[in-house]
Amino acid sequence: MLITAVNLSYLLGATAFVIGLRQMSTPDTARKGNLLATIGMAIAILATLFLPISGADNNYIWIFGAMTIGGIIGYISAIRIEMTAMPQMVSVFNGLGGACAVVLAFTELVQIADGRIEATLAQLLILFLTLLIGAVAFTGSMLAYGKLQGLVDDRNVTLPKHNILNIAILVILLVLCVYVISNGSQPSLFWISSILVIALLYGFSFVAPIGGADMPVVISLLNAFTGLSAAAAGLIYDNNIMLVGGILVGSAGIILTIVMCKAMNRSLFNVLIGGFGENHEGKKQEGEAQLAKEITCSDLSVQLFYSNSVLVVPGYGLAVAQAQKVVKRMDNLLSANGVDVKYAIHPVAGRMPGHMNVLLAEADVPYPKLLDMEDANEAMANTDMVIVIGANDVVNPAAYDDPASPVYGMPVINVWEAKNVVVMKRSMSPGYAGIQNQLFFHHKTKMLFGDAKNTLDQLNDELKTLES
Ligand code: NDP
Repeated sequence: MLITAVNLSYLLGATAFVIGLRQMSTPDTARKGNLLATIGMAIAILATLFLPISGADNNYIWIFGAMTIGGIIGYISAIRIEMTAMPQMVSVFNGLGGACAVVLAFTELVQIADGRIEATLAQLLILFLTLLIGAVAFTGSMLAYGKLQGLVDDRNVTLPKHNILNIAILVILLVLCVYVISNGSQPSLFWISSILVIALLYGFSFVAPIGGADMPVVISLLNAFTGLSAAAAGLIYDNNIMLVGGILVGSAGIILTIVMCKAMNRSLFNVLIGGFGENHEGKKQEGEAQLAKEITCSDLSVQLFYSNSVLVVPGYGLAVAQAQKVVKRMDNLLSANGVDVKYAIHPVAGRMPGHMNVLLAEADVPYPKLLDMEDANEAMANTDMVIVIGANDVVNPAAYDDPASPVYGMPVINVWEAKNVVVMKRSMSPGYAGIQNQLFFHHKTKMLFGDAKNTLDQLNDELKTLES
């Protein structure tokens, strides 16, 4: 009776996850979807508390103690986190999910090594799989956090021929696992610990050479790994909700990885062996120092006011400046004057998938105004004015013409094909990939320096004077 009630609750929880995920796919219903999935998780946790543990008492003091500490840390981090630091938080939470899977698998394996419990070949296989994937997700995500936070420089953690090293570690890991599993149903603690240490090392080494424009792909892949390790842990404990939750996270992560790979023009195989993202410096500019042309707010406002079509290209700087609502005000002023204002969204603009969509939805920019990269590039030649706001790597022509650049091969928004381009940023500093951008020196480009929010505020004031 109790087990039936628990299983029914799991079914309810899993249904809430699926419907919640579905609702998260559009900004209109995303909040509701998030709430529904949270309720599903609460049901799943509550039901699990009633699950009897064979041969032991449910130790509620430990369970509630851990849940309280974890809940408080999670709540405080979520409340305090800046929108721009969200990817780092996601990386840490993701890594901790992998660490949980490692702890579960290791605990079971230690008991098997002691002879306290017995395991079939299939069970051993699942346990080692959980250990491996969880460990890679853990150390990989922690290093990704360090890179996103700017604590780790790619050059300090990458060795020459790092990709070959990665393949070698992966082969050693797999051979060891096959050897240990095929050598009897009671692996020794020495081999279990060795596999764990090498897997932790591999996670670190796998992410080490990946940098620049390739980070989004690896982040979504690590996310998928955590889901898969949770699903494998669900198999170990024969727990359906863990299995369903893990599969949902794993498959969503894999789909996102494939979408990102496509957007970045990379193959999944290359990602898996960490076969890209070596530290390129990009083409050095020789000869005379290049000069970028500047424009004032007042001149830009006049040009915008008399344009037929304006395309805004938002990037990470828009999120830093929290300028989304001021952009919407500019859009309203221009649209009222008959200007057609659209937004071009690059799939990896910002620091997390969908970052720009979230920001613009927050400012109530209507969804039909957002163009994806392909549509934006098609519309470019007929666009009077492109305003690049805090974007850099996603509009860098080096992606097409500099094979030594870390962004080479990545499709970008071809803003230089529009009639005029204005770039709003604070300085000539590079973006995430750490490379200079020839767009700033292009004959069609003018720079408008300053914090994006302040600049747009001034621009809106100028536009208002033109209107009156
Ligand atoms: P970039 O990081 O290339 O450039 C952002 C620009 O914003 C900087 O050059 C900076 O210049 C400017 N900026 C910062 N603060 C402000 C401000 N307050 N006002 C105005 N400008 C500002 O951003 P993109 O969006 O073009 O590219 C995203 C990059 O991040 C890509 O390389 C991508 O691969 C990577 N990435 C993306 C992830 C994702 O999932 N989307 C995850 C991890 C990495 P200045 O300092 O001069 O103002």
